[in-house]
Amino acid sequence: EDFYRKLPKVELHAHLNGSVSGQTVEKLIGRKPQLNVEHSMTAIGKGQRRTLDECFQVFKAIHQLVDSEEDILMVAKDVIREFAADGVRYLELRSTPREEKNTGLTKRRYIETVITAIQQCKNEGVDIDVRLLVAIDRRNGTEVAMETVKLAEEFLVSSDGLVLGLDMSGDPKVGHAKDLLPALQRAKNSGLKLSLHLSEVPEQLEESGILLNLPPDRIGHGTFLHPEVGGSQSLVDKVLKNNIPLELCLTSNIKGKTVPCYSKHHFKYWYQLGHPIVICTDDKGVFCTDLSQEYQLAASTFGLSHQAVWKLSEKAIDCIFASETVKKQLKQKWTDVASGIA
Ligand code: IMP
Repeated sequence: EDFYRKLPKVELHAHLNGSVSGQTVEKLIGRKPQLNVEHSMTAIGKGQRRTLDECFQVFKAIHQLVDSEEDILMVAKDVIREFAADGVRYLELRSTPREEKNTGLTKRRYIETVITAIQQCKNEGVDIDVRLLVAIDRRNGTEVAMETVKLAEEFLVSSDGLVLGLDMSGDPKVGHAKDLLPALQRAKNSGLKLSLHLSEVPEQLEESGILLNLPPDRIGHGTFLHPEVGGSQSLVDKVLKNNIPLELCLTSNIKGKTVPCYSKHHFKYWYQLGHPIVICTDDKGVFCTDLSQEYQLAASTFGLSHQAVWKLSEKAIDCIFASETVKKQLKQKWTDVASGIA
């Protein structure tokens, strides 16, 4: 519907390689026909659902296709343009820096290349403000996490505000966040904002308690935090006490089978509390969605009026990691759109 596409939006939870569209995948396959990767291996279509484990197989296929500087530049620019075309006006992309021996890609070049993509889009006049969160894949353990934090610290200083923070993601069933605590604590101390995947699966109660003590600046998913789904009031209290916004990705959770259906999504629990929540896509390519569609789904599932949806998208501005000045600019933009100027 037109309203949702025109609605100015903030996207705060988007993994770069999970956001790659079908069109871009076609281009990548054309570049690397010898890999025998098929389109069906990189996306989960309408009505399809996979276990979380199977979702992580999808990322493997995409990573095979995206393994050089040229690939990353193309992928990042395409993803940014697509978000802008969908009406996203502020985007925090997140991505795990990888090194690839066969193409000479290093983690540093990886981050630099995403930054170049952001700058090129800006120079081309794409109407979107884009920032980067450097991601830690929990699977890779203590040392890699620390190395990633140090790299992110350098870019926090040198990237002119483009790198703002850190994400912790990856298969929630692999590794324990305890091992990553020193790295996360260090990141926090050096001024990197933290967005952590939390309680994506039910088995993470203890871990979530520990991570919430940091506390993080935002929570990814938080599917199993509240008591109704086996979480606990003490976890909820920690979230409320520190007023930590949740990034909620409806279609991702349905297709990844951590939530049984849209109406049972934890959006409802937190929305009713009036707690800050931000609707996001997670992996718009893999889950075949976009942010307009996610807002529309939330509205139709939970009976939100256009006015309520507008408020939700406007309140997301308060949850961004960029400065107060940027927040002010965005709020002005929203006001301009509302009054028909922009
Ligand atoms: P990348 O970091 O740009 O390579 O994006 C893909 C990566 O994001 C995956 O390999 C995971 O580490 C992470 N990721 C994407 N979606 C999810 C999710 O739903 N839960 C946890 N990690 C995720």
